[in-house]
Amino acid sequence: MTLVYQSTRDTNNRVTASQAILQGLATDGGLFTPLTYPKVALDFDRLKDMSYQEVARLILGAFLDDFTAEELDYCITNAYDSKFDDERIAPLVKLDGQYNLELFHGPTIAFKDMALSILPYLMTTAAKKHGLENKIVILTATSGDTGKAAMAGFADVPGTEIIVFYPKDGVSKVQELQMTTQTGDNTHVVAIEGNFDDAQTKVKEMFNDEVLRAKLGNKKMQFSSANSMNIGRLVPQIVYYVYAYAQLVKDGELVAGETLNFTVPTGNFGNILAAFYAKQIGLPVGKLICASNENNVLTDFFKTRVYDKKRAFKVTSSPSMDILVSSNLERLIFHLLGNDAEKTAALMAALGVDGQYEIEPVDEDLFDWFAAEYATEDETAQAIKRIYELSSYIEDPHTAVASSVYQKYVAATKDPTKTVIASTASPYKFPIVAVEAVTGETGLGDFEALEKLQTLSGVALPPAVDGLETAPVRHKTVVAACDMQAEVERYLGVDTL
Ligand SMILES: *Cc1c(COP(=O)(O)O)cnc(C)c1O
Repeated sequence: MTLVYQSTRDTNNRVTASQAILQGLATDGGLFTPLTYPKVALDFDRLKDMSYQEVARLILGAFLDDFTAEELDYCITNAYDSKFDDERIAPLVKLDGQYNLELFHGPTIAFKDMALSILPYLMTTAAKKHGLENKIVILTATSGDTGKAAMAGFADVPGTEIIVFYPKDGVSKVQELQMTTQTGDNTHVVAIEGNFDDAQTKVKEMFNDEVLRAKLGNKKMQFSSANSMNIGRLVPQIVYYVYAYAQLVKDGELVAGETLNFTVPTGNFGNILAAFYAKQIGLPVGKLICASNENNVLTDFFKTRVYDKKRAFKVTSSPSMDILVSSNLERLIFHLLGNDAEKTAALMAALGVDGQYEIEPVDEDLFDWFAAEYATEDETAQAIKRIYELSSYIEDPHTAVASSVYQKYVAATKDPTKTVIASTASPYKFPIVAVEAVTGETGLGDFEALEKLQTLSGVALPPAVDGLETAPVRHKTVVAACDMQAEVERYLGVDTL
């Protein structure tokens, strides 16, 4: 039987995995979500000796079950290759009191590479399967890391165009340069005057705009999404949770079957939702600890069951988590409500109209899988310093938010369960924050900080940032958030239709 992916907002909108990947978002505004979970034999005696690619075959084969084994094999082999600078793909590092699962060894040194290196292969394979002749236009709003990782994956992929919107003043200098220097004839980068939520809201509107869809159709084009709203982003992220567990068993750090917690620095709720799905298929996970920065809307949600976006948006040192409307939470809400699309649609409508909603009653067992806390800017910097002093290891600010939250969680609960921290970016992506936290220096420039970071960490400068300072800037467009659609129409040449 083929797994059913259903829109979170319409019971009748049901597709297979490959169709869900092609569409990206459901046209009713919902997200395609698995209604049941595949049976996967998680035998750690075998898993512990499997490579990352082999674990990926197992997990992707189970969840993306209308792809053939050969198709998935092709996608996996091309995605997880030497563009990762560590052959383990997601190496696990043992620090004082925690394990860090390094998800930043891909081409753009952030965890988005884990899924975006495979998404273009999954999408073009799905297009071929369905005999699709339209050009696929990837429309992406980014809080800093998705945009670059998506372009690295889609640049010059035949049959695709990719348009990325990022908040002009909401990303680090390194992040911005990584995007604006992107090569590839099919890439288009646009800065917007606004924040990530403005960009994401407008992108969702364009997806759901029937007139725009028809204009694209006339020119044999269609939208898809590379955001974590695409199930093709989420499923590849399940792989590393299973892989991490297997590696801990292999290293004798865990006994097979022992409970393990994950602490995940969270923004759009994609990464932690993948951990939730790993637990659903039987990975022995205890708590899923949701770590936020000062944009702590999710912390409040898990503590009060009220999701309230009506608050000031804060620009923090962990910009990829500066989000007030956390898209993938919709999938969890759907599951917490017993996969009820009608109720989910009503809550999402309330969020649009009132800026908030309350969930009640919920599946208490599922709700209890989660714990949540947030870290202030000071606490994040202290966490970087603390880990450096304890373990001579420098975390990026996103990972440090998670480390700080984990400390708070242990202090509050005394939970002795071992914990893996999802380490979502290399400190080289945020060099000023990292160096300032460790040394107390202020007023450093980005490239000065990059050099200091090398000395402090002893980790070689990754190719992703080497040469960035002098690379030619190719993308200079800046538009107001309300002009994003006009820019898309102009770029695609559908503005006169
Ligand atoms: C995207 C991102 C996050 C947040 O992940 P979500 O899946 O959106 O919750 C955290 N850290 C970094 C470095 C990121 O790029």
